[in-house]
Amino acid sequence: MERTLVLIKPDGVDRNLIGEIIKRFENGGLKVRDMKMVAPKKEFVEIHYAMHKGKPFFDLLIKYLANRQVVAMVLEGKDAVALVRKIVGTTDPSKADKGTIRGDLGNDSREKADAEHRSIYNVIHASGTPEEAKVELKLWFGK
Ligand code: GDP
Ligand code: MG
Repeated sequence: MERTLVLIKPDGVDRNLIGEIIKRFENGGLKVRDMKMVAPKKEFVEIHYAMHKGKPFFDLLIKYLANRQVVAMVLEGKDAVALVRKIVGTTDPSKADKGTIRGDLGNDSREKADAEHRSIYNVIHASGTPEEAKVELKLWFGK
């Protein structure tokens, strides 16, 4: 069994998608092992997204999450990191497959976000690799 970190980003919370999103992970065979709602400080989000430091969208990304309510959860299952990423879909919701969370529930695109100088609003953060998951679970849940 593997564990991974998922965040329902502020757009997902604002759009009342929490229940729908959790249902999709549970139906997909994942178990919710821990969960909390928090508004992370700017410094905390900078640590969470440290891997993107220096990229053109880094500051936009910090602004997207800092001091706004997100739902953080620990999901567990077989190959949980890869399974969750599959259920979530690709970064740009306009390109994400139908049947994925971003493909079905996302209403944004990279093109639109870049033109409006903001982060892509894509509902979810999910750890990208098992190594990232370990670091992120420690950061968000201390385990
Ligand atoms: P993820 O793992 O699919 O969430 O994507 P990344 O780790 O590559 O990027 C982190 C987050 O930054 C994404 O979920 C988007 O919200 C945002 N982002 C990524 N790429 C871009 C981009 O090219 N333009 C803008 N405006 N935002 C981006
Ligand atoms: Mg990522």
